[in-house]
Amino acid sequence: MLLLMAWGGTWQRLEAEKDLISANARAQQQNMATVIAENLGQVLDRGRLMTIAAEGWFEGQQAAASSRLSWMSSADRIFLRTALYDRTHRRVYSSSPAQDSPEMQEALRKVLASADGHASPHSLVPRLQSNEQAWHIPLLMPVLGQDATPRGVLMVEFDLGYFLQLYRHIDFGRTGVIQIVSLDGAIIAEARQEGLVLQDKNRQADFLSLASDQVSSVQSDLFKDGQVYLSSVRRPEGQPFLVVVSREMQDILADYSTTRSRFLIVLSIFSIVLLAATYWVVRGLRRQGRFIEALAQSAQQNRELIGQLEEEKRRAFVLAAHDHLTGLPNRRMFNELLASHLQQAKRNRKHYALMYLDLDRFKSVNDNMGHHIGDLLLQAVSSRLRATLRESDLIARLGGDEFAVLLTALDNVDDAASIAAKLVEQISLPYNDLDGLDIQVSPSIGIAIFPRDGTDAETLYRHADAAMYQSKRWGRGKYTFYDTALNPAGSRFFNLEQRFPKAIAEQELVLHFQPKVRLSDYQIVGFEALVRWEHPELGLIFPNDFIPLAEQTGHIVDIGNWVVEACCQQLCNWKTEGLPLVPIAFNVSAKQLQDEQLHQQISSLLATYDLAAESLEMEITETCLVESMDVAIAVLGKLEQLGIRIALDDFGSGFSGLDYIRNFPIHTLKIDRSFINDIRNRTDDAVIVTSIITLAHNLKMNVIAEGVELVDQLIHLKTAGCDMVQGYFFSRPVPAKAASELLKQSFLSPS
Ligand code: C2E
Ligand code: MG
Ligand code: MG
Repeated sequence: MLLLMAWGGTWQRLEAEKDLISANARAQQQNMATVIAENLGQVLDRGRLMTIAAEGWFEGQQAAASSRLSWMSSADRIFLRTALYDRTHRRVYSSSPAQDSPEMQEALRKVLASADGHASPHSLVPRLQSNEQAWHIPLLMPVLGQDATPRGVLMVEFDLGYFLQLYRHIDFGRTGVIQIVSLDGAIIAEARQEGLVLQDKNRQADFLSLASDQVSSVQSDLFKDGQVYLSSVRRPEGQPFLVVVSREMQDILADYSTTRSRFLIVLSIFSIVLLAATYWVVRGLRRQGRFIEALAQSAQQNRELIGQLEEEKRRAFVLAAHDHLTGLPNRRMFNELLASHLQQAKRNRKHYALMYLDLDRFKSVNDNMGHHIGDLLLQAVSSRLRATLRESDLIARLGGDEFAVLLTALDNVDDAASIAAKLVEQISLPYNDLDGLDIQVSPSIGIAIFPRDGTDAETLYRHADAAMYQSKRWGRGKYTFYDTALNPAGSRFFNLEQRFPKAIAEQELVLHFQPKVRLSDYQIVGFEALVRWEHPELGLIFPNDFIPLAEQTGHIVDIGNWVVEACCQQLCNWKTEGLPLVPIAFNVSAKQLQDEQLHQQISSLLATYDLAAESLEMEITETCLVESMDVAIAVLGKLEQLGIRIALDDFGSGFSGLDYIRNFPIHTLKIDRSFINDIRNRTDDAVIVTSIITLAHNLKMNVIAEGVELVDQLIHLKTAGCDMVQGYFFSRPVPAKAASELLKQSFLSPS
């Protein structure tokens, strides 16, 4: 569009300029033709004046006429020669002796004949001139008498060359031509920039049709040379000549052509540049368009891919977190949920119940009726679990026919019992039409209660598992709460019962030692000996997993003895190594306290290892005191006499108050770990701890806090006046070698 406008505008402008230049040239030529015609007219008028002087010749005044004619022709530079002829064509006067050309007679006749009977005489320009006198033009004018009859003819030869020379200095272009044309069309004279042109006498110019008094212009191929000329023609009034001024159109328009070419070149360059720019812009836009399109496409693809990946991830997560058969969370997912629920549980005072549920005789269903029926049964059981439990409870399939349930936020433990009873009842109802078969199974359920039976997932699992095995032992379709007296040997993981004697004989038991740190100066003031069983197949077994079993089977007495001896052995080693001795505390079970020989055994060991009684400390629990209290009191009394110090372990977790224990010979109170746990978050726990410390001090007892894991707990205990602490914050229970190192450094810095 811009280009069309540019071209259109330029074209219009060029055309207008061309027209203007042509019009200017035409006007200039016409002016020139007019001026030349006027001048020529004046010359001819002067010639006519001479005819008047010539009249006298025919009226008898030849001398006067002759002198006037001579004077007039010599006075005018343009006249070359004058001659007078009478009616018989005889030359009667001549200003020079030059001969007349042969054509003169015929010309005279024509002039006399044409003048005859006419009022106005006609001038005649005969074609007489020879090449030598190309521009000497004879002009024949009739000399009329009083009665207007022709008396003779005056011939005035005038120098047209001289006349035209006068215009030589007028610049009107390289191709400018001035022509004088006679009335019969013959070109009489022609002047160009470079000079006068010798004329071919017979050359004709076809301007007669234009000849009028008015000046007019025409374009023609004037010289038949293929060029177009602009010619302006003027006929002087009453004269036998035409004045033609011509110029080649090309010459007229030469400047214009240059300007035009320049314009066109500039415009062409501009057009090319514009077109190229447009092309590049369009190409760029197209490419950009394609690029944007590709970008959008790839963004779309990315989005789809991300969507697919998200979907895959979600599916993988669901698959990884759920049991494919029942759609219930699997063990992994359950563990995570359990952990987060227990976190929450620690902040409220509710009870949580972890249930292990196992289908009785499921194996025989699978074996006898096929896995397909087994699967259908598991699906049906999971549906009943869902239907029976609340939305807020967690259900999971742990694998095989094992399910786990977490009953959340129970107000009291009895609720767990009624829910368990309901589950047993519901799951035991017959399953009709499992692919055409009717089946009945019952569950065995084991229940561990948070916080009573454990505060961490692992302990709760173990205890629920033990309780579940107990259910199985007691008969199918039962639920059982975990009880510390439960035989953990019932757990499928451990079948340790038979191995106790061997464990002692083959030195599979080891002691780990956990330092007790005095808060006033952070000195290690004692160790607690904690027994572990390095089982050749099961690896390291912790006391909670075998002590209750040992207590049940009675092996605890042997284990206890082994522990006391091992403590003495360790003290002896330290003594030998020259390390400063600190007391080692050992734990005893209720059953050991029933052993009236205990103090004797201990004292003989002290003697054997040459140790003072103060090197040993005994940790008892409240349970020890409850069972056969009299015997316990007696045994404790004897030990006290011996000089053994006694600590009451896990204080606060049981039933006894301080009032109750004041009757026993107890030197140290160990505050139970559960109080220390939440000492920072729960003000009631903090208050209990502080009051235990105060009361214990009043009863002249030392106080040690166990399970100290964090610096905040430490600060709180120190502020509350606690004497000692024990816990992971300073050190975990460590093997003897590491304990020796600790003893060497003797201090444990809290920073
Ligand atoms: P306990 O006498 O109350 O022993 C302290 C228990 O708490 C130890 O567990 C110890 O490892 C753990 N503990 C210490 N500091 C921290 C802490 O900062 N955070 C946490 N979470 N736990 C801490 P361990 O060794 O598993 O012993 C468990 C229980 O087994 C003992 O509780 C004790 O009652 C009994 N036991 C250990 N050794 C013997 C033994 O030789 N004879 C008898 N009869 N019972 C023993
Ligand atoms: Mg202890
Ligand atoms: Mg304890």
